[in-house]
Amino acid sequence: MASSEAIGDVAREAGQWLQELGVEPSLFSVGELRAHSPITGEAIGRVKVSGVADVKAAIGAADDAFRSWRNVPAPRRGELVRLLGEELRAAKPHLARLVTLEAGKIASESLGEIQEMIDICDFAVGLSRQLHGLTIATERPGHRMMETWHPLGVVGVITSFNFPVAVWAWNAALALICGDAILWKPSEKTPLTALATHTLLMRACARFGEAPAGLASVLIGGRDVGAFLVEDERVKLVSATGSTAMGRAVAPRLAQRFARAILELGGNNAAIVCPSASLDLATRAIAFAAMGTAGQRCTSLRRLIVHEDIHAALLDRLRAAYASARVGDPRESQTLLGPLIDEAAYAAMRATLDEARTLGGAVTGGERVLAERFPNAYYVTPALVELAEQARVAQRETFAPILFVMKYRNLDEALDMHNSVAHGLASSIFTNELCEAEKFLSAEGSDCGIANVNIGPSGAEIGGAFGGEKDSGGGREAGSDAWKAYMRRATNTINYSKDLPLAQGVRFDL
Ligand code: NAD
Repeated sequence: MASSEAIGDVAREAGQWLQELGVEPSLFSVGELRAHSPITGEAIGRVKVSGVADVKAAIGAADDAFRSWRNVPAPRRGELVRLLGEELRAAKPHLARLVTLEAGKIASESLGEIQEMIDICDFAVGLSRQLHGLTIATERPGHRMMETWHPLGVVGVITSFNFPVAVWAWNAALALICGDAILWKPSEKTPLTALATHTLLMRACARFGEAPAGLASVLIGGRDVGAFLVEDERVKLVSATGSTAMGRAVAPRLAQRFARAILELGGNNAAIVCPSASLDLATRAIAFAAMGTAGQRCTSLRRLIVHEDIHAALLDRLRAAYASARVGDPRESQTLLGPLIDEAAYAAMRATLDEARTLGGAVTGGERVLAERFPNAYYVTPALVELAEQARVAQRETFAPILFVMKYRNLDEALDMHNSVAHGLASSIFTNELCEAEKFLSAEGSDCGIANVNIGPSGAEIGGAFGGEKDSGGGREAGSDAWKAYMRRATNTINYSKDLPLAQGVRFDL
């Protein structure tokens, strides 16, 4: 921070952790982009925005680095990611604390976010020995057919504020073992955690010793900096996480130049609660999914579709759970809900609750609290909104702790309500009836990329492919075979005979 500015507690602590993590003070104390803490609203750092020349130079350096990195054997590339995992393990408490200070998460969720980064590194190290294709039977005698997977090129990673570092790790760990170079454009709301994470990767690169210069860079700024990555044809894949509006802006531009896209966009996630469900278990799962991270997860539970026979009993339990969830400073150990990210998030929450009230919705909670202690920060009590039907207000994503509760009579009606929104990210059913659970998971059930039984829609682990359908973007990241998006596939046919039979019996006799 410039010496003329008053330095608050959060800024002072963030500065200490950044230095502890090895980030050069000049990187977080000078520049035009101010990082704020949602805990107090105070400025906690100033960083330089990457200009066009910086972005072009970074893309050029990444392209050069790719040309040598692609020839490093994949298991050796895995060694770099193993070292990154070691750095993350060592820095876990410090980096997690920085996530709390910059994104407002409670300690347990911040630690969980760093653990997720470590997990994907472990996964990627193992995967670096398993980037295998198929051998396929050919119709021609004396031939062999196979597919091979090759590194793709430069990968651009654009991330959102609410998982300021884990989303980068999902992409970076896979891209690096797949032989790609990476350019990261973090959210303009969370540049400090990005600089700290990048420093850890640079430390891993230094220990590794063979990483080409330019293999990984971080580019600071807003959407215009992200747009440079989207427009540059040297960037072969853009993995972009954020709002559906962002996806709508970048998707056509990537399609125009035939670049690959992984789009991880918004969600309007629902759970169906059936009469046979354990209401205690459902209440606990719903409480975490709807209130965790103050409703600022892409997978946060936003709609609850409850059978009419248990509606009153579940609502009683939920009201009690909501009343007991402590809203406050995320640095305090009793806190379960920290602040909203900024004033705009609070305004969006208020507008949605006002609209719900005009539609006859019964709203409990949703008030601003702690305004005297933190006049420049936005803490809210989580809101439960009972709606007679799934009105338009419940059909869009409001990135705040609002849970719309609606009734259903039969499962087909519940599934219709469940699927009749634009998004298709994460979903759950709570039931002890096998047939209901299986129907929810079947082709005529949930239309989301994530469909769960007796657990909430949020809190995915990295072993599965993560992503959604419809307005949630269609991308897949993390586990399963998501790695294939970071490589190009070649089909190879080898003739080891002395003849030249043509496929499909075609003859071309000279
Ligand atoms: P946002 O769309 O405002 O910004 C996300 C990122 O995209 C930022 O880095 C931003 O600078 C960049 N960006 C925005 N417009 C761009 C453009 N036209 N060209 C290039 N880059 C652009 O989102 P946010 O407020 O940071 O995050 C919240 C949203 O992200 C919610 O909708 C949430 O559901 C979604 N999200 C989705 C996932 C997922 O995996 N599906 C994960 C986390 C968050």
